[in-house]
Amino acid sequence: MNVLLCGGAGYIGSHMARYLAGEGVGVTVLDNLCTGHREAVQWGDLIEADLLDSAALDRALGSRRFDAVMHFCAHSLVGESMVSPYRYYQNNVTGTLNLLEAMQRHGVQRLVFSSSAAVYGQPNSAVIDEDHPKAPINPYGASKLMVERVLADAAVAYGLRSVALRYFNAAGASADGSIGESHQPETHLIPNVLRAVLGSGPALKVFGDDYPTLDGTCVRDYVHVEDLAQAHQLALSYLSGREGAHVFNLGSGHGYSVRQVIAAAEQVTGRPVPHTLAPRRAGDPAVLVASSERAQQELGWRPRHAGLQVMVESAWRWHRQAKF
Ligand code: UDP
Repeated sequence: MNVLLCGGAGYIGSHMARYLAGEGVGVTVLDNLCTGHREAVQWGDLIEADLLDSAALDRALGSRRFDAVMHFCAHSLVGESMVSPYRYYQNNVTGTLNLLEAMQRHGVQRLVFSSSAAVYGQPNSAVIDEDHPKAPINPYGASKLMVERVLADAAVAYGLRSVALRYFNAAGASADGSIGESHQPETHLIPNVLRAVLGSGPALKVFGDDYPTLDGTCVRDYVHVEDLAQAHQLALSYLSGREGAHVFNLGSGHGYSVRQVIAAAEQVTGRPVPHTLAPRRAGDPAVLVASSERAQQELGWRPRHAGLQVMVESAWRWHRQAKF
């Protein structure tokens, strides 16, 4: 089996490449390296191309016979999407349409798509399942929801088989320390906490402590990146026997506040996390916690790396000796 990994030089995509290669699947990475890392492409060939370049997509999809595409390419920062919505819709929606059309031209009928918990907006229940109303409160989430709609229409019109995986907060790194989370600039909580500990980044800014949560800081559901990779492979198998467009949440079902993440990092590293209080970040919902029951039932997915401590330890092993 051959899989084209769009965005395979990024954080989740590179862990996917490692996972698939370990399962004996042929991997080709397509990435424009705007946020991905050449050093993270350690499994399979790299095709440097942009989703906005249809001719390059044709060359990539024509380079060998692909059984499926996994699509991780996206601008993915909530705050940035609030100030640059055109850029987000262009890249995340137009880019995906280009990819889907190229897949159609080359007869590739299976897609696993990276969606996001951001499609739900402000939750109206403690735990979010897939039937929760979709009302994104930022352009990033809206762009993901638009693509989900396109996939549903494409299933009816063209028979495209797809699974959209709505990630909650990806965390951790590969067990062998070969790849991990690295963004420039870094905006995510766990890397910023650990960089503050190491002194390789500034003191952590805690974005708001007046949310209606246990300690006033935002609550998120962290899920290990290797568990996300496993879910993608299960999603691909799921599509072998099924038509249609499917969606699944991927989270651990447990929420942790920003202050709890700080406390876990202090415990794991044995050092204080320098931090200051800052205003709320635009576009942030107070609480996002997944019900992943559907993924458990239908895909047979069980996160193997449970608990905040385990994820922070995994991230810490990477950050202490990050190679890129
Ligand atoms: N956060 C924070 N300081 C940071 C980065 C993030 O307080 O330097 C908070 C952020 O407001 C959110 C949570 O941590 O409530 C997780 O943010 P992240 O950017 O990691 O992921 P997101 O939930 O936006 O996908």
